[in-house]
Amino acid sequence: MTIRLLPVILAVACAGCLSPQQQCTSEEATMASLRDAYQNLRFPQSEYGGQAPRPSWWRCRPEEIADLCLGVKKGRCEVIGQTAAGFPLFAVLYGEFNDGGPRQSTWAASSSSDAYECYYGQPEKQTIVWATGFHGAEPEGVVATLNMIQLLETGKDLRGRSYPKLLELVSQFRIIFLPCVNMDGRAISPDHLQGTDKVTFRKACQGEWLDGQPIEWRESKRYFPLPLDRVKHPGGYPNADGFNIMHDATPGNIRTPEARAMLELIERYGVDFFFNGHSCEGKPFMIMPSEINYQAHVERGLELADAINARLVEAGLRSGMPKKAATRTLNFNNLVSLTSGGLALSNELNSWAESFDDMIEPNFIIMEVILASALKEPLADRAALLRGK
Ligand SMILES: [Zn+2]
Repeated sequence: MTIRLLPVILAVACAGCLSPQQQCTSEEATMASLRDAYQNLRFPQSEYGGQAPRPSWWRCRPEEIADLCLGVKKGRCEVIGQTAAGFPLFAVLYGEFNDGGPRQSTWAASSSSDAYECYYGQPEKQTIVWATGFHGAEPEGVVATLNMIQLLETGKDLRGRSYPKLLELVSQFRIIFLPCVNMDGRAISPDHLQGTDKVTFRKACQGEWLDGQPIEWRESKRYFPLPLDRVKHPGGYPNADGFNIMHDATPGNIRTPEARAMLELIERYGVDFFFNGHSCEGKPFMIMPSEINYQAHVERGLELADAINARLVEAGLRSGMPKKAATRTLNFNNLVSLTSGGLALSNELNSWAESFDDMIEPNFIIMEVILASALKEPLADRAALLRGK
């Protein structure tokens, strides 16, 4: 399946598919738009990657993402938008999605009425969005998601591993995978950063000023967008316009097409839970929820993040437990709750883990904990949110 489209990619790359004599299939048109997007990039791929050769199952390049998504049979691939540079934004959907039309009301309005069902309806299954690759130099989540899609398609991931318990859980939900939110950043980032030093890591992630200094993590957030004429390389953090999609969260003034496409998807399907996937140079963990939310969401988020972190400790993937306290962060997750009433949480994988397996394994554990928990108590119990506790 995964190499099925390579001839198409090559054919499109060589000949193009927009000649008047030639009818394009949508797959070919998608691949053509991907090829065109590379031409729109202002910066080349960075030279800051890890040296170790990647395993064959480590797929994270835009054309590899496209190939796997377009090849699904059990799921349905949808291009939900275009990135700033013009890359297709892929979603892969599993489950029944017959509620994508206009709804009678919005979450904001209906939750202030006497019938939130006028927006939310009465869905049989909870809807999960599993979004990874918000930051392009953090490929681990992308690799994990492509492996999950392969697992759902064939019963085994790209490594040949099976996760029967996870598969059983997944079938009880509607799941939408967004393997790579920031295709622009991914296209100019290395395949991985294992074994790099801290300065190199920073340059690959947040970028490098013209004078050669790395752009520090917090420093990068002083700008929105990052001033691209002042950088030697922007790293994989922002999209092609310099915007950090993770913090594109100003109501009424959303800057990125990526955030707009996700918000439209979240509203369209009344999403209950949004997984927001990241990586860092430390041990993997689930980030505690923002305190700026419904009290019930804050409490549920704290319990869930804590339970996940305990499982990661149990699996030997980290040692100590992160503090169980809400953050004051404002980011895309806050908008999820405003848009659909759903709960959103972020995680960090470890880009410096000793093995490539350990870089992605936490996400399989995290998904299992979340789905098992959701069957005991809804991830976003709308009645409880509005009733208060
Ligand atoms: Zn990140």
